[in-house]
Amino acid sequence: MAPSVARKFMFGPLTIPLAQLFLLTKHTLGIVNIKPIRPGHVLVATRRQVARFNELSQEEVADLFAQGQRISKIIERLYSADGLTLCIQDGGAAGQTVPHVHLHVIPRHTGDFANSDDIYSVLDGTGQVPQQTHIDNEQRRPRSLDDMAAEAVILRKEVGDWDNEPIV
Ligand code: AMP
Repeated sequence: MAPSVARKFMFGPLTIPLAQLFLLTKHTLGIVNIKPIRPGHVLVATRRQVARFNELSQEEVADLFAQGQRISKIIERLYSADGLTLCIQDGGAAGQTVPHVHLHVIPRHTGDFANSDDIYSVLDGTGQVPQQTHIDNEQRRPRSLDDMAAEAVILRKEVGDWDNEPIV
């Protein structure tokens, strides 16, 4: 089926190309990250464009977390992670930069940051990605759409046909 130009998905004020999506359910989107903190850092967002967690219905919360758990299992396996950082920055005061509810799914490896919790200062924009990671701070330029699309293709295969809608 040819990609439809009519379908648009919003992430806060941003229009997300279909090529960046790897999961689409009734209430939830999986989006590859334009500036990952670690390889495999993806976002699981609500389909409805609302900023705050407390604005979600119970059905939206349930789907966000069910899909987040599924995606986290895939990410942990694909990136041979030792653990995961799963977090929601809920509101600007909490470091949220895109006003649209989203769960960060970030694979973690023992020793990836000098102190494990240093990742939170990188997430809120005050800290630096450490030298020993695969991503240095210079490389934290926005990724190309081709690069993100290639990652989304891999993740879509992993997601399979769960309760996913076709991403076309
Ligand atoms: P937060 O600061 O918690 O709101 O997180 C925003 C996340 O969105 C960060 O991980 C950004 O790298 C990511 N981001 C920003 N713009 C885009 C975009 N156009 N496509 C994908 N991810 C984005």
